[in-house]
Amino acid sequence: MRAPLVDGFGRVHTDLRLSLTDRCNLRCTYCMPAEGLDWLPKPELLTDDELVRLVGVFASMGVRTVRLTGGEPLLRRGLPGLISRLSELDLALSLTTNGVGLERQAQALKDAGLKRVNVSLDSLRPERFLALTLRDRHEDVLEGLAAAKAAGLEPVKVNTVLMRGVNDDEATELLEWALAEGYALRFIEQMPLDPQHGWDRGTMVDADEILEVLGRDHVLIPVESRGSAPAEEFHVDGGPATVGVVGSVSRPFCASCDRLRLTADGQVRNCLFARDESDLRAPLRDGATDDELAERLRVAVAGKRKGHGIGDPGFVQPDRPMSAIGG
Ligand code: SAM
Ligand code: SF4
Repeated sequence: MRAPLVDGFGRVHTDLRLSLTDRCNLRCTYCMPAEGLDWLPKPELLTDDELVRLVGVFASMGVRTVRLTGGEPLLRRGLPGLISRLSELDLALSLTTNGVGLERQAQALKDAGLKRVNVSLDSLRPERFLALTLRDRHEDVLEGLAAAKAAGLEPVKVNTVLMRGVNDDEATELLEWALAEGYALRFIEQMPLDPQHGWDRGTMVDADEILEVLGRDHVLIPVESRGSAPAEEFHVDGGPATVGVVGSVSRPFCASCDRLRLTADGQVRNCLFARDESDLRAPLRDGATDDELAERLRVAVAGKRKGHGIGDPGFVQPDRPMSAIGG
């Protein structure tokens, strides 16, 4: 075991977002242009062997939880095999997915060692889903959610981004649906990470507004002991069920951030909004030892900024969009 990954502000890093691909089979309008993006060429992507080796280095430095993401991680070939190799590293593995194809894969992923899934869904209305994602796959997502629950990938969480004039009228409907289905719903504030640069702080549906709307029909009591979790959780109507709000923009949680990211092409990012990355792929392919990779990682973490800086006059959106960083 190596020394833990501590940055200049004393934050210890134990959580890794691991992007498995930058490709996607949906085109959520706030995430990707209709024509898609310039996908990474295959030789630039980390292979399964490279991923397992690098995650082993992260684990040797105290990383305990790994969330597989993308792009759409279910598009990665041989995903159950990769999960089973990663789970041998004694990590809690979870997955963030758009749910398309999850119905077919949920049981195999669970059997391979996956613990939990977050499924992104921004509307309960098929025609609105189509307008939002440019793909007619609403039913697939609902089937994927049901399959995840049946496979025991619980608690099944649902991630929703509310956008003004698009789906912000569905907040309460989504909550009541999630409560009825037994899914844990979390609203995520939209962040300036879209390649189209269409984000606007002025029209963003923020945490205060979401809580105010939900509070009109439901009693929300804050759950104590949030820890380093990004979501503020609330018990709904006195029951055990909860709803979460991730106020990344209006209620930043940078001070307790314990998270790192590794892109599908092997770049470490110490923050979603970092302006620079640290390359682990080149040294890995040039024959670096694990100790040398660990030292690079240590330096990458040491340079983490205090906060994401959205709202600062000098804020500049990262060059890579969310789908290429790993959301
Ligand atoms: N394709 C998978 C999915 O949609 O769940 C995983 C990757 S996706 C980038 C991860 C999450 O990021 C999704 O819940 C998506 O809604 C969210 N997301 C994408 N762009 C965002 C943005 N600009 N602001 C906030 N969340 C965003
Ligand atoms: Fe794909 Fe996820 Fe981005 Fe939607 S949010 S386009 S599903 S990567």
